[in-house]
Amino acid sequence: MIPVTKPFLPPVEEYESYIRDIWQRQWLTNNGPLVNELELKLKVYLEVPHLLYVANGTIALQLAIRALELRGQIITTPFSFIATTSSAMWENCKPVFVDINPGTLNIDAEKIEEAITPETSAILATHVFGNPCDILAIDEIAKKHNLKVIYDASHCFGTRYHGRSVYSYGDISTTSFHATKIFHTVEGGAVFTNDPELLRKMAYMRNFGFDGPENFACVGINGKNSEFHAAMGLANLKYADEILAKRKELYLYYIENLERLDKQCQVIQKNTTYNYAYLPILLPTEDQIRKIELYLNANLIYPRRYFFPSLHTLNFVDKYDCPVSLCVSKRVMCLPMHHKLTSEEVNFVIRILYRAQNY
Ligand SMILES: *Cc1c(COP(=O)(O)O)cnc(C)c1O
Repeated sequence: MIPVTKPFLPPVEEYESYIRDIWQRQWLTNNGPLVNELELKLKVYLEVPHLLYVANGTIALQLAIRALELRGQIITTPFSFIATTSSAMWENCKPVFVDINPGTLNIDAEKIEEAITPETSAILATHVFGNPCDILAIDEIAKKHNLKVIYDASHCFGTRYHGRSVYSYGDISTTSFHATKIFHTVEGGAVFTNDPELLRKMAYMRNFGFDGPENFACVGINGKNSEFHAAMGLANLKYADEILAKRKELYLYYIENLERLDKQCQVIQKNTTYNYAYLPILLPTEDQIRKIELYLNANLIYPRRYFFPSLHTLNFVDKYDCPVSLCVSKRVMCLPMHHKLTSEEVNFVIRILYRAQNY
């Protein structure tokens, strides 16, 4: 069986050595030494000034929305994982969907301004599949209209834009370190900001608002993560370069060998060092994708229809017209990409894809 992804696992002895230290210290959670070490090492690896390690990527989004005190309407993308939309709604904000660019698959910056109303407080955009949004255009619009910007950078581990980590853009960027992501801590996530005040606020919020043992700075939540999760992060971080290199190799091999397949690929933003986290392909029609998916499944190959459905069609959001996202979400699938995928398996997937399209 060839699944779309497989979580990376480090050699078990390397994880165990961290776990033995936890047993020694008997410090299991609450900002322990491994959480601190992971935060420091991630800052160095990613070359970002600040970050906070949190429980998951969804809490990261909720902390960001809270810390920026967003209300009213948030302009967002219909082509993302559900947590982008649901986090905004969970924080009592209304998602206003702006359609995506058919090439980059990210929110179409040219359509943002016409969606701004006096109720708009922010733009919440996803760098889909690790491909940076039109950050310069979005930041310019935000400045002009006095809006905050949050980037859901859950797919972006290792992506750089104009020579800097893509995590360093926006008022706040968030990420997920879930087991399915390119770098993971089983469950986990982070918030990034260049603003020390915002960072302080989110640090309080992550830990119930505690300011010393008997004082509370603000309303908070339990957004912390544990020593066991940090241990997995530290064990995995050693392999981050290797994981990124392998993705790149797989991605380029697929692209080269799928040239004759009738499909479209994501257009990667200029000035980007891409992380090759996913390989989405767009097939000509929804019928074709169904046919090809069945054919692949019959050969025990399991791609994923990421992202389907388009979020503007959810039954708990207002109605918006996003024809591009609607059409893309019906025709997109992500091909198997993971650390353990062999060249025989990739060649098999490629062969079956051609056979399925001509079937
Ligand atoms: C994975 C993901 C999330 C959620 O992260 P969790 O760690 O699973 O909570 C949010 N947004 C996007 C785009 C994601 O892919």
